[in-house]
Amino acid sequence: MHVLYGGTFDPVHHGHLRLAVELRERLGVAELALVPCHMPPHRGDPGGSSADRLALLRLATAQEPGLVVDDRELVRGGPSYTAETLGQLRTELGASEPLVMVVGSDAFAGFERWRDWQAIPGLAHIVVVHRPGAELPRHGVVAQLMRDRGCTSVAELHQAPCGRILPLTLPLLEISATSIRERIREGRSPRYLVPDRVWQEIQARSLYGAGR
Ligand code: ATP
Repeated sequence: MHVLYGGTFDPVHHGHLRLAVELRERLGVAELALVPCHMPPHRGDPGGSSADRLALLRLATAQEPGLVVDDRELVRGGPSYTAETLGQLRTELGASEPLVMVVGSDAFAGFERWRDWQAIPGLAHIVVVHRPGAELPRHGVVAQLMRDRGCTSVAELHQAPCGRILPLTLPLLEISATSIRERIREGRSPRYLVPDRVWQEIQARSLYGAGR
């Protein structure tokens, strides 16, 4: 089973990293791929360049063999459409290998606005991680998808290559990249919210207004 967890990672923080570790264990896989996006279609341009965000992500995961970084969206360039990324992976993995995409409930609530969202259940399973304050809609496309495709166990993801949606509640750290960028811009410390190595590199590269 191949698991991918995409995001802007602007910058990567301990909330992302803890979630990745919890997920890897819960899904019972040897490794999980973190996929930084190049140009996020549904939000403003990131504060850090793609190359900077990728470098920080690599530093953050260097000592953790269970987490790997997949830079395919940066290599591809242009807007980072998840359906395209999953299509590429499906071609590489073949038709029968389970492929899982992880998404927070905040992002999944707007699923029907994603480019080619209808193709996604035919390419991958979706694991929706509940984020406090981001309940899934009770009506509309997302609610219907949950009714049609919702499942309750990880075992069901191993039994098919794609098509199921598993909501998961995991212990989360209340950290957001937005609050980290704000702190740095205001000259406050983001220590213990991001790995030390990441904070050192943010300072070395003067990212997010550090040292100004
Ligand atoms: P921003 O504050 O800039 O919106 P973010 O911290 O929410 O950023 P993203 O890179 O946009 O991070 O998120 C990537 C994925 O990680 C999304 O699916 C999001 O729901 C999830 N995520 C973000 N922060 C956390 C956290 N603290 N715990 C668990 N999941 C998180």
